[in-house]
Amino acid sequence: MVDFDLKEGRDRHGRALVVPEPAQLIAGDVQALPLQARSFDYVYASHVLEHVDWPADACQEIMRVGTAGYIETPSPLLEQGLAYLGKDLPEYWMHKWFVFSPTPAVLVFEPKTRATISEFCPCSDGRFMKEFYDSLDFSVAQHCLRRKAKTTIFFWKPSFVVDARDRTLICGDGLAACRFRGMRRALVENCNDLWRAHRLLRLKRVFPNSQIVFRKYGERTLFIH
Ligand SMILES: [Zn+2]
Repeated sequence: MVDFDLKEGRDRHGRALVVPEPAQLIAGDVQALPLQARSFDYVYASHVLEHVDWPADACQEIMRVGTAGYIETPSPLLEQGLAYLGKDLPEYWMHKWFVFSPTPAVLVFEPKTRATISEFCPCSDGRFMKEFYDSLDFSVAQHCLRRKAKTTIFFWKPSFVVDARDRTLICGDGLAACRFRGMRRALVENCNDLWRAHRLLRLKRVFPNSQIVFRKYGERTLFIH
């Protein structure tokens, strides 16, 4: 186990760290791991990469020390939703990146800054997401969404492509799609998911305006019917 900030054996929530035998806890920076190449069969990096300054370096290091792995971060749907209208709350600025995987074996990082948080692609997906966020209080609404929609989950073996960008790219920048396509898909899938449907009913009841956005964009989900 590697931890960047070892605070007297406690994790960042103040709980005692439990390191199962025979694992060892070492202090290190994921952007320059103090480990030999191919030391591990599997590298698990959950809720780490959204914090680093240089995600491309961190990903190269993860691939250097391992031969396969799992990466998890908050999804752009969650990151932008929370910070877009809550810009002044410091807790939304610990994370520096929108992390997503538009195609298999590709992991993209776009900067999450006070400027990019209010940028939406002019395409239909970007407009849908902006109007959805504008229709509700996302800090409340997020509790109606499933974890799957709120996280980016990425498996890799034996390597992957890292695309660390210096700005939000929009459709027309020569891309297959902007990040908003994946955000919209994740949201619509969530709203068609019968599992825990009672949460969707709560979303509909508390924020009725959000249904108007779904109707306007032709998203015929269980959520609005
Ligand atoms: Zn777009």
